[in-house]
Amino acid sequence: SQKENFEPPSKPPERGGENGTRILVFVRVRPLGKKEKDAGSRCCVRIVDRRDVYLTEFASEKDYLRLKRLRGRHFTFDASFPDSASQHDVYSITTSELVEAVLQGRNGSVFCYGATGAGKTYTMLGKVQSPGVMVLAIKDLFSKIRMRSCDGNHAVHLSYLEVYNETVRDLLSPGRPLVLREDKQGIVAAGLTQYRAYSTDEVMALLQQGNQNRTTEPTRANETSSRSHAILQVVVEYRVRDAAMNIINKMGKLSLIDLAGSERALATDQRTVRSLEGANINRSLLALSSCINALVEGKKHIPYRNSKLTQLLKDSLGGMCNTVMIANISPSNLSFGETQNTLHWADRAKEIRTKATNAIEDLLPVPETETDQAKFLFELQKEN
Ligand code: ADP
Ligand code: MG
Repeated sequence: SQKENFEPPSKPPERGGENGTRILVFVRVRPLGKKEKDAGSRCCVRIVDRRDVYLTEFASEKDYLRLKRLRGRHFTFDASFPDSASQHDVYSITTSELVEAVLQGRNGSVFCYGATGAGKTYTMLGKVQSPGVMVLAIKDLFSKIRMRSCDGNHAVHLSYLEVYNETVRDLLSPGRPLVLREDKQGIVAAGLTQYRAYSTDEVMALLQQGNQNRTTEPTRANETSSRSHAILQVVVEYRVRDAAMNIINKMGKLSLIDLAGSERALATDQRTVRSLEGANINRSLLALSSCINALVEGKKHIPYRNSKLTQLLKDSLGGMCNTVMIANISPSNLSFGETQNTLHWADRAKEIRTKATNAIEDLLPVPETETDQAKFLFELQKEN
């Protein structure tokens, strides 16, 4: 295993491109688990230059010298995190930029993809001692809001929902399934709890409780379902004034998505895929793959309507959004096939382009007090 501290690649990821921005794709390798060690498994993943992932069936040098040839492949991503990378490393390199963008009215979304046990929930939610991207993003959001001159302007609302077997449920207030409706802002789940958050302290407990509410599969009663997608939506509402001092209400939305385990949806045999789809086992993940394929191929029609997940993520994939994907993998040679599939999928996602636009980026926050407002107006007039 690689024990040095993680540093970002020398060249920071670039979204670039005039025809929209690319999805940034990251890979995170988790440490070898105890069960894997006990089963005598070895590491088949190596990260080089904090960017490249070498996947080989056998990873030891001795094996290499003996076999001369190894089955495997080399992939390059925007950054790749070895097992020594901290939750904070992962947050700051993958997501902090999106939090800043949300405060300027641009939507963003981060989703974790990978097989069950690969580290998606650890990356997204984390543990109390090592909170993940969801919690660190909200913490950072609050500190960024505090640093701005007039924090009274911002309201932060959280919603946490689940898509399981094509049913949408509210994880903050479990009950009857929610119905998806289309409105001006896109597709919304009717009646979804919007929790007004004032500080980070309450958030970890809230999300952990929500995570407990995720549907469990009948056959694996003690495990959180590997077929359920969890989506945390963080909506920031704020007011700004334009040059004519008219108040404008603005908002930015950050979606953080812990996807269902990818293993079953990844069958390459077409018949299997179809029967899985027929059985509705994980239509949403298949639909996500089809949407990604259609976006990569530049198709006019993107089949968002095929599943609840893709309807909910419509404005996060092809729409006006900054999108980040974190592919989680196990280092164990016992998971070689799953890891290979995950890396192929991630490799393909690199090709997707989205458009993140912000029509009125240079607006200023509204000062809270009247004296400040007068000063603000004065400064504005001076500038013009
Ligand atoms: P998934 O949500 O993809 O099914 P989990 O996040 O539940 O997988 O991870 C499986 C196990 O591995 C959990 O016990 C988790 O705590 C542990 N784990 C995952 N990633 C890491 C990591 N980066 N560092 C330490 N432990 C991890
Ligand atoms: Mg999980």
